[in-house]
Amino acid sequence: MDCLFCSIIAGETPSTEVLSTEVAYAFRDINPKAPTHVLVVPREHITDAAALDPSHAAVLSGVFSAAQEVAALEGLGERGYRLVFNVGEDSGNSVPHLHLHVLGGRRLSWPPG
Ligand code: AMP
Ligand code: ZN
Repeated sequence: MDCLFCSIIAGETPSTEVLSTEVAYAFRDINPKAPTHVLVVPREHITDAAALDPSHAAVLSGVFSAAQEVAALEGLGERGYRLVFNVGEDSGNSVPHLHLHVLGGRRLSWPPG
C-alpha cells in the first residue's frame, strides 16, 4: 500500500522521531503550526477517526498514552496543549493514515480557523 505515514513508520521516508512505542510512533510535523507540533500515528494503518470501531480500543489507548508522553517530553504539561484529529475535506485532512496532532508552546486560538 502506498501510504506516506506507513512509509515513515517503516523508516523508508525520513522523519524526526520524538517517541517510539509498541503501538505508536511520534515525529515532528514537517510544517509546524506551533512551537511544538508532533504527529502521533498508530503503527497499524487506520484511515482516519471516522474508520475507528471498538476493535481499535487498544490501539487508540496506545496513541493517547504516547501523546501524553510526548506532551511531557516537550514540557507542555504545565501550560497545556491541544490534541486534534482532522477528518475529511472541511478539516483539511491531507494524509489518509490516522494521526493525532499534539500542538503547544504558545497560546492557541479558539475556535481554530
Ligand atoms: P492533516 O492535515 O491532519 O492530514 O495533517 C497532515 C500533517 O502531516 C500536516 O500537518 C503536514 O504538515 C504533515 N506532513 C506531511 N508530510 C509530512 C512528512 N513527510 N513528515 C512530517 N509531517 C508531514
Ligand atoms: Zn498508513
